[in-house]
Amino acid sequence: MGGVAGREGAGAGRVIDCDVVIVGCGVAGLYCALNLPAALSVVLLSKGGVEECDSMLAQGGICVLHDPDDYESFFEDTLRAGHYENRLESVDLMIRASRPIIDDLIKRGVRFARRADGSLDYTREGAHSRARIVYHEDVTGEEITTRLLACVRELPHARILEHTCMTDLVEGFDADGRRVCRGVLATAPDGSRLQINADATVLATGGVGGLYAHSTNFGCLTGDGCRVAAEHGALLEHMDYVQVHPTTLWTERPGRAFLISESARGEGAILLNDAGERFVDELQPRDVVSAAILAEMARTGVEHVWLSFERVPREEIEGHFTHILEHCLSEGYDIRERPIPVVPAQHYFMGGIHVNADSETTLPHLFACGETCCNGVHGRNRLASNSLLESLVFAQRAADKIMRDRFAQDTAAQLAMAARARSRFIAGSRDVTDVALLTGAV
Ligand SMILES: Cc1cc2nc3c(=O)[nH]c(=O)nc-3n(C[C@H](O)[C@H](O)[C@H](O)COP(=O)(O)OP(=O)(O)OC[C@H]3O[C@@H](n4cnc5c(N)ncnc54)[C@H](O)[C@@H]3O)c2cc1C
Repeated sequence: MGGVAGREGAGAGRVIDCDVVIVGCGVAGLYCALNLPAALSVVLLSKGGVEECDSMLAQGGICVLHDPDDYESFFEDTLRAGHYENRLESVDLMIRASRPIIDDLIKRGVRFARRADGSLDYTREGAHSRARIVYHEDVTGEEITTRLLACVRELPHARILEHTCMTDLVEGFDADGRRVCRGVLATAPDGSRLQINADATVLATGGVGGLYAHSTNFGCLTGDGCRVAAEHGALLEHMDYVQVHPTTLWTERPGRAFLISESARGEGAILLNDAGERFVDELQPRDVVSAAILAEMARTGVEHVWLSFERVPREEIEGHFTHILEHCLSEGYDIRERPIPVVPAQHYFMGGIHVNADSETTLPHLFACGETCCNGVHGRNRLASNSLLESLVFAQRAADKIMRDRFAQDTAAQLAMAARARSRFIAGSRDVTDVALLTGAV
C-alpha cells in the first residue's frame, strides 16, 4: 500500500495496481481522495485536463445550514424544488453535514465572501426561502476546485492521470463468488490501453451535458460513468431527470452556453419579455422559471427573453458578479446599462447511477458520487447550489465506507492507518477521534 505500482501487462497495455481508483477530478473525485487515509494508494483519472470539469464552472455558491433553526426550511426548500420526490434520508444527511464541510473547506484554504465584521456573507438564489449560500465572487466552483486540487497534488499516496479516459470496468469475483468491480480500463494520452486494478472503484464522472446541443456543461461530460455502470448491470435511476437552467446568455455562436447565475435573480435581476413586461416570479424553482420562459418564447415567437439588472445595485454587480459582467462585456452587453438576452439550456442531471447513503452502487466494490450518481437528494429538480454540497458530502461518505470496509478485519492496519491519517486530519477539520472511531482504532 502507499505507492502506486505500474507494470507492463501481458499484451494488455500498461497495468497499474492501487487500492482505490477514482474516475473524475471534479469536486466529488477530489474530495473523495482527500478523505481517504494515507495508507491507501489512490489513482485519479481526468478525461481532459483537470480544469475541464463542471466543478470549475460553478458560479452561484454552495449551500450551508445557516443556523440550527434553518434546518426545517432548508429541508422544505430542497423538497419543494424536488417535487417531493427526494430521498429524505439523503437530504437529512446532506443538511446535517453541511456546516462541517464548509468549515473543512475553509481550513483547507477556500476563501468565501465575508462581511465587514469578518463573518461569512450569505447570498440567496431561486426557491430558497432565505439567504444560506456561501460564495466566492461569482466563481465559487473555481475557488473550491482549485484549492482541493492543490491539496490532492500534495498527497504522496495519490496520483492524477490527466487526458486519460476510462472506457470500461474490470470485473472479478470475491471470496463468496459474487461479481465485483476490480478497477477500470482506460485510454492513455498516447492512445495506448491502461488497466487500473483497484480494490475500490469510484465513479465521479459528472453530468451528461456533452450529449446536448445546448448545455452549460463541458462537452467532454457525456455520462460515461452511467454507461459503464449500466453495461455491468449496476442499477441506474431517473435517467430522464434532466434540469434545464432558465438563464444562459443567448448567442448565435456554437459551444458551451454561458450561465447567468441564479443568484443574479436572487439579488434582484428580473425577467422581461420583448414588450419589457415581467411574466414570471423569478424566484420560483428552476423548472418552473424555465417552463415559463419557453412558454413566453413560444407565445411571442422569439429566440430569447431578457434579463434586467436594473434593480441590482451597481456595487453589487461590480463586486459580486464580476465575471458575469466581464463575460457579457466581451460579448458586447453591459449588464449595468441594459437587459441581456437569455435562453434556457441543459444544465444538470438529477438521475444517474443508483447509490445508497454510503455512495455504494448495486455492483459490489463500485461507488459513485457527484453528478453521475443518484442518491436522491435532488428529487426531480435540484435546488440551486445544493450540487457542490451534495457532491462533497457523499464523496466523503464514499471515502468513509471504503475505509471501513478495507480495515474492518485488520486491527493492526487500522491502527497504522489511523496514526498516518493523524497528520492529515489535523490540517483539516475532521477530528482525529472521528477517524479513530470510524476505523475502530479506539
Ligand atoms: C455553469 C455551471 C454553474 C454551476 N453553478 C453551481 C453552483 O453555483 N452551485 C452548485 O452547487 N452547483 C453548480 N453547478 C453544478 C455543479 O458544478 C456540478 O454539479 C458539480 O460540480 C459536479 O461535480 P462532479 O465532481 O460530479 O463532476 P465534474 O466537476 O463535472 O467532474 C467530472 C470529472 O469526470 C471526469 N470524467 C468524465 N468522464 C470520464 C472518463 N470517461 N474518463 C476519465 N474521466 C472522466 C472529467 O474529466 C471530470 O474530471 C454548476 C454547473 C455548471 C455547469
